Amino acid sequence: MTTSRRTASTAHIDEGDTKRRERLAAVGLRITANRLAVLRLVEKAPVAVSHADLEAVLPQGFDRVTLYRTLDSFVEARLLSATVGADRVRRFSLLSGDPAGHHDHLHFHCDDCGRVFCLPAKPPRTPSVPQGFQVEGADLYVHGHCADCTLAHR
Ligand SMILES: [Zn+2]
Ligand SMILES: [Zn+2]
Repeated sequence: MTTSRRTASTAHIDEGDTKRRERLAAVGLRITANRLAVLRLVEKAPVAVSHADLEAVLPQGFDRVTLYRTLDSFVEARLLSATVGADRVRRFSLLSGDPAGHHDHLHFHCDDCGRVFCLPAKPPRTPSVPQGFQVEGADLYVHGHCADCTLAHR
């Protein structure tokens, strides 16, 4: 009998997927195969990705509407940040760190790769508004060239 023999195949659990499951659970999203697949692709992308970019690399038959809904749910849960570039295309970038904590600091948007980075800086106070106005939120972001892109363009 060879039952005591350990084979390499016993260590076949995808470490990344375990992390992704935790990530989805942490923001209160139900774990589905589709969500895992989309998250996996966004994580692997070296730059911010658009719907079209993802559609091109998702397996055949992956529903377009599902992709839109999945991305929207990620943005809502603050797993991803969505930005609109100069070309008016919406692109998605992974937000790392505490998923609940992205309200209390500023973000840096790279004009080259489209990625969004958390900054260790507090957002400014919301200015006062005229009577009768209701503030729902204020978005200020810093933009420019990230460290990777600055190096690449030197
Ligand atoms: Zn960049
Ligand atoms: Zn953040």
